[in-house]
Amino acid sequence: MINLEKLEQAGRLIIEGIGENPDREGLIDTPRRFAKMMEEQCRYTSISNKEIAEKNNKCFYCDNDNMVIVKNIEVFSRCEHHLALMYNMRISVGYIPCDKVIGLSKIARIADSVCRRLQIQERIGKDIFEILSDILETSDIIILIEAEHSCMTARGISKPGTITKTITAGGVFSAPALKKKEEFLAAIRGN
Ligand SMILES: [Zn+2]
Repeated sequence: MINLEKLEQAGRLIIEGIGENPDREGLIDTPRRFAKMMEEQCRYTSISNKEIAEKNNKCFYCDNDNMVIVKNIEVFSRCEHHLALMYNMRISVGYIPCDKVIGLSKIARIADSVCRRLQIQERIGKDIFEILSDILETSDIIILIEAEHSCMTARGISKPGTITKTITAGGVFSAPALKKKEEFLAAIRGN
């Protein structure tokens, strides 16, 4: 459960920790705003993937197995190692329907929900995969995530523009034979 009071205290401590005066005019309401922001960004911390699946289980009958692709769902999240923002995050999902398709907006809603937790990019893909395979009753699903991590771009090694890509795939998308074929094609296309 989100504890606004604790978050507000934490906000005040951060301000004190950097040697600022939390009672000066510009900062007086900052702990409260910080608490609200964290509440909004971490709203799904105590809500399970199962519950997200139940909430978004809006499907329609489909009698073909043509691939469905939803590209570039824009979201952001916070990394669990630094609480830093993962931003410019674009999620693309593909799947092969097995008698049913999910409402397209639900895919975006699922992606948005799992990002409202402390995350690592790899787990965001795994969470979306788990929820979609639960709803769609198939593992023929692939998820590509591209994001910038402010813990890499704005601190430490400070490399703006560095993009992290992760792929989570199951069923036909992860068949070893297919992977090998792609590996081969990628190799001969390169130098
Ligand atoms: Zn980080």
